[in-house]
Amino acid sequence: MRLIDSHAHLQFPQFDKDREAVIARTRAAGIGVINVGTDLETSRQAVTLTEKNEKMWATVGIHPTDLPAPEAEEKIFSELEKLARQSRVVGIGECGLEIRNGKFDVRSESGKRQIQIFERQIELAKAVGKPLMIHCRNAYDGLLSVLSNFQSPTSNLHFFAGDWPTARKFLDLGCTLSFTGVITFANQYDEVIKKMPLDRLLIETDCPFVAPAPYRGQRNEPSYVIEVARRVAELRGSSFEAIAAATSANTRRLFAPLETSF
Ligand SMILES: [Zn+2]
Repeated sequence: MRLIDSHAHLQFPQFDKDREAVIARTRAAGIGVINVGTDLETSRQAVTLTEKNEKMWATVGIHPTDLPAPEAEEKIFSELEKLARQSRVVGIGECGLEIRNGKFDVRSESGKRQIQIFERQIELAKAVGKPLMIHCRNAYDGLLSVLSNFQSPTSNLHFFAGDWPTARKFLDLGCTLSFTGVITFANQYDEVIKKMPLDRLLIETDCPFVAPAPYRGQRNEPSYVIEVARRVAELRGSSFEAIAAATSANTRRLFAPLETSF
């Protein structure tokens, strides 16, 4: 396995017509994949993909924009916990905080609800002894306070989109940061990628979303993670092989069950 796409959604409907062909290309390219759940159903589907594919793992969780109705919450969490205990499930998420417009308000009703469901997933991660796959959009301050107050397990901040001072705070907490194909066509992450310690850096596609150059505008897929590794190598003045080896090792170290299933 040459590279690991640490955050993908091959279970999403965008792949319904040709999922097997996409998986075949992924396998041929020597790429391992962590498929990430965003609610109970897509978490189940991510686990199903691990059953049929040797180089795939799953995380299970609830995305901050897919929060359950309060009356469904207990049932969903008990199902989620059963999935979370499976051996090919390597983490909890994607979970976290998101605000589309403006600033995250911890006191607003939706802010409180997001924090509550996030904290419940932190508890679940601790209970099953697995790390968090965190989604955060425009809410790094809120996230920092939840993570610091909570003695949370080790976490990967997927699709990291903060500046260097923000990155430093999360690195100090022990988090890893992962980067998508956005880094192939936007420059605002260059500083973080150049300055951060290599042993905390992960790569991902977040497919079917945000395809890297030269595939911009098309559906993304795990084999395109090669473009992300190439750009990280370029920015850090390293070889592709060194970045491939380091990011794969970092992913295995964080998502430990992935290591033991080799
Ligand atoms: Zn995602």
